[in-house]
Amino acid sequence: MYYDLHTHTDYSDGTLPPEALIARAHAAGVKVLALTDHDCTDGIARAAAAAAGVGITLIPGVEISVTWQRQTIHVLGLGVAPTHAELQTGLAALRVTRGQRAHEIGARLGKAGVADAYAGATALAGGPIVSRTHFARYLAAAGHARDLRRAFKQFLTRGAPGHVPVTWVAPEVAIGWVHAAGGQAVLAHPARYRLTTTRVRRLLADFKDAGGDGIEVISGSHSRDDMHRFTLLAREFDFLASAGSDYHGPDSWLDLGALPPLPAECRPVWRDWPACA
Ligand code: AMP
Ligand code: MN
Ligand code: MN
Ligand code: MN
Repeated sequence: MYYDLHTHTDYSDGTLPPEALIARAHAAGVKVLALTDHDCTDGIARAAAAAAGVGITLIPGVEISVTWQRQTIHVLGLGVAPTHAELQTGLAALRVTRGQRAHEIGARLGKAGVADAYAGATALAGGPIVSRTHFARYLAAAGHARDLRRAFKQFLTRGAPGHVPVTWVAPEVAIGWVHAAGGQAVLAHPARYRLTTTRVRRLLADFKDAGGDGIEVISGSHSRDDMHRFTLLAREFDFLASAGSDYHGPDSWLDLGALPPLPAECRPVWRDWPACA
């Protein structure tokens, strides 16, 4: 069984529509795929229909924007009921925050000499989620940055002219939505937050206390070393372990179907899933 439990479509900041994501996952040998768009579950119905057609088990998911100690972290909800009212009310509030932030990013970029960034990013988004990724794509397309990575660094991250600090929701709030909707809460790509060893342990301890179920051990954005480190930490903090590429499209950092297996000492997040027994 090949699992990929972290992917995006063009309903958030991925580039492929749900049908194309599923076709590519099928071609790559993925058997169980979670769609985890940022703060939005609108793509799940189309993905589920396409998955049924090719024999992929589609796990309804979401990647929730969370603030922990004034830092943004991402919490995956896996196996959530997409229509659950409490989850949807929560995600809708996050999208309002996103929309306000997008306006503010546009305004600040305007002052920094970048014209029409809000309109440009919104047009590129074309859907319910306007992400910094869409601003980065606009900045690159309009010639303000050489590529996405540089667009983030020069315009969108802390200290840059288009950086807008936001407070999302607390970990326990996001975890509460996920649990109310019947899902499992998994800390996404823990190595990406650039925390010191002490702060990583603080985050894992807090995530555990807040009711978190697991962490991503295998991630498209983890090095071999990160995977080993978080295998040990998952054990120590008694977390289930998840695996996901964080695929955003053909220009993503890792293609579908290319993840290493979960180490044998991990307890997989899917161990009790009926669809995957
Ligand atoms: P947002 O949730 O709108 O703040 O955007 C965060 C998204 O931007 C992440 O999910 C990544 O897909 C993308 N991202 C963040 N940092 C970078 C970077 N340095 N280069 C490319 N993409 C990035
Ligand atoms: Mn993203
Ligand atoms: Mn993320
Ligand atoms: Mn992601």
